[in-house]
Amino acid sequence: MRILKFGGTSVGSPENIQKVIAVVNARAQKENVAVVVSAVGGITNKLLQAGHLASKNDTAYISLFEEIKETHLTYTKALTQSKETYTQVEILMNDLEALLQGIFLIHELSPKTIDKLTSFGERTSSVLITAAFQEQNIPAQHKDTRDLILTDTKHTKASVYYEQTHTTIQAYFKDVQTAITVLPGFIARSETGETSTLGRGGSDFTAAIIAAALKVDALEIWTDVSGMYSANPKLVKQAQPIAHISYHEAMELSHFGAKVLYPPTIAPVMQENIPLYIKNTFDPEAIGTCISNEANGKNNPIKGISHISDIALLTLEGAGMIGISGTSKRLFETLSAVDVNIILITQASSEHSICIGVAQEDAQQAKEAIETTFAYEIAIHKIDPVIVEQDLSIIALVGERMKSHQGISGKMFSTLGKNNVNIRAIAQGASEKNISAVIASKDVKKALNSLHERFFEDQRQQLNLFIMGVGNVGGRLMAQIEQQQQYLLENLKLNLRVIGISNSRTMVFEEEGIDLSKWQALLAAGEKADGIRFRESVQSLNIRNSVFVDVTANEEVAMSYAQYLRHSIAVVACNKIACASTMENYSELKRLSKKYNASFMFETNVGAGLPIIDTLKNLIASGDRITKIQAVLSGSLNFVFNNFTSGSSFHDVVQQAKAEGYTEPDPRIDLSGVDVARKILILAREAGLQLELEDITNTPFLTQNNLESTDVSHFFETLKEDASHFETLVSDATAKGHRLKYVAQLEGDKASVGLQSVSEESPFYQLEGKDNIVLFYTERYPDQPLIIKGAGAGGDVTASGLFSDIIRLRQY
Ligand code: ADP
Ligand code: ASP
Ligand code: MG
Repeated sequence: MRILKFGGTSVGSPENIQKVIAVVNARAQKENVAVVVSAVGGITNKLLQAGHLASKNDTAYISLFEEIKETHLTYTKALTQSKETYTQVEILMNDLEALLQGIFLIHELSPKTIDKLTSFGERTSSVLITAAFQEQNIPAQHKDTRDLILTDTKHTKASVYYEQTHTTIQAYFKDVQTAITVLPGFIARSETGETSTLGRGGSDFTAAIIAAALKVDALEIWTDVSGMYSANPKLVKQAQPIAHISYHEAMELSHFGAKVLYPPTIAPVMQENIPLYIKNTFDPEAIGTCISNEANGKNNPIKGISHISDIALLTLEGAGMIGISGTSKRLFETLSAVDVNIILITQASSEHSICIGVAQEDAQQAKEAIETTFAYEIAIHKIDPVIVEQDLSIIALVGERMKSHQGISGKMFSTLGKNNVNIRAIAQGASEKNISAVIASKDVKKALNSLHERFFEDQRQQLNLFIMGVGNVGGRLMAQIEQQQQYLLENLKLNLRVIGISNSRTMVFEEEGIDLSKWQALLAAGEKADGIRFRESVQSLNIRNSVFVDVTANEEVAMSYAQYLRHSIAVVACNKIACASTMENYSELKRLSKKYNASFMFETNVGAGLPIIDTLKNLIASGDRITKIQAVLSGSLNFVFNNFTSGSSFHDVVQQAKAEGYTEPDPRIDLSGVDVARKILILAREAGLQLELEDITNTPFLTQNNLESTDVSHFFETLKEDASHFETLVSDATAKGHRLKYVAQLEGDKASVGLQSVSEESPFYQLEGKDNIVLFYTERYPDQPLIIKGAGAGGDVTASGLFSDIIRLRQY
């Protein structure tokens, strides 16, 4: 014989009930089955809600009741032609109505009445499902579980008297001839003859009790997911069903919130060594989960991650607790006396404080009870009043083989820390089958996903990008990401997603990742852009491995990095304002990056896509020391001076450079040397020097007239006015066989930038187009410098530099 249990969703519509019938019928061809059913999905909640309304004298209960009645009568009509069944359901609904009227009149809803009330869900569903079988000429009978399961009088969560219950069940099924017996889950009868229930979600338990009594071959729990998953599949997309899991592990997972199985369900089947299968009514072919004595896991010592929400943490502390044995005993006795369940306990090794996690709804009662017990100690200030913290959740890693593996808790806490999840308390079960941590409820989804990634996803990693600035460079970056997404997934196991984008006009967010094939349209239809709200959205989305990418040249954006880093959000910037701002700000960003374990990357600040900063960092990390840097770092100035020959117009060349996108929107930033000064400043700082922009010697080649221009168009006019100045510069150089190059230099702690006329022997002489070149002289490269050379400007190469920084964020 076999027991099959179907949950609320499985019987949640007449169509679904047909699926249930198909599954049961297939089983019943081979052996007799007992089918335990839940109430129709959502009905138990509605019954409770109606009861509460009625008890508060609120007539709104009537419309809720009508809804419940309507659902059941509609289902009955859809499933059977039987008049008797229809009348039976009508009678049940009349009884329910009378009960609600009674509650309305006496303004009272005791636990005993609650049980009477909620029993209507299962009582009705089991009647109409039995009729649905019979309608299809499948032999099925109905049996009320209240005649089989005996409990105490702890209403709403009664304890089962196993001995009598087993005897009654065995006696009843001994004579059953019908292939299918349909039974309501959840309900039972108390020793005083009243209807009792086994606790919310208790139909699973009903099925397990019957399975154990009859020592059946298997118990099958049919639900709306394909098994017990490595994490709640509704919260963790990547979660996978666990094929095999031990009773103990399943018990631990369900105790810590894996709702797919009601925790008390396992004990009865474990005792009889009956395998428990979790199956999906909507995908009956899926393998599902087998819960048995064997864990049969592959190599992962972690089986699953679960969580319990709505937890409150109560802390009892004070000098009076030290060395006084019995404090914990008194505490536990106190809570047990008021029926408060302790979910988690941690005690500081100093014995100075003890922390307990309880359901939020129990917090106030627990606090009052504890303070009454310890009233004397509190009065003489030996113990402080109980501190209550709310809005917390517990997350737990579960696995039987965890105890033989080192470093799991280390991995767990570093993963949470990396994602800025603050841990309030930690507990490891004495059995070492779980490690649990108390965190803020708002962090649960992020915590579950980052832990799942760390422990289950085979080194697969997700990076979630928030990109500000999608003009030329940003646009290319989007295109490159779209093109490479699949490659990264397959080859680097990197799942690169863009969650938010903004330009100066609009911004758009999509928690599951923006469809990159139509980001322009999505952005255009987005909300109004706002830097602060952008940042707030990034923070409140609270997604693991978040990265802020600044592809603007905006000062305000540059000043917001600290706020991102403080929330452990990595920053990748092509904007060089932050790194070239004050030394104080630069150091603060570096400090925050370290403190919050969030990378701060800005390779494209110097030489666009060329790996200049990365090389410099590697030289230093490997113990080398920089003695001198010589560089041509301005693609724009290089373009200008490569195209400016004697006889041509300097004004026209600059205008062309601007038109082709080789200069900053304000070309004075390039031509005044400020841009190059910022770059050498950044290199100097990365090489370990503490310099400010003012410390860089900048010898201008522009005229005073150019430098004092009021705006960009005025600047262009002054270039025309001073054409002869530029003509002299170039003709003097040409006369010597030289070329003009804008050179940056760092030697010792002195840095300078300026136009130089270089001879043919110089490595800079041959530099083409918009190329950059950097010569690193170091202790290991004293004579022949390490040279990096290549295109140092342009949308595509800059975007690919950003892309490299993003990929560098991957953790191995
Ligand atoms: P039923 O009504 O069939 O008893 P439940 O809603 O009680 O179904 O339980 C199934 C639900 O449990 C799933 O839809 C899922 O949201 C939730 N759940 C939580 N944790 C897990 C987990 N680790 N594996 C599978 N489901 C889980
Ligand atoms: N119907 C009950 C509940 O919703 C029992 C169950 O579905 O398991 O809690
Ligand atoms: Mg359930």
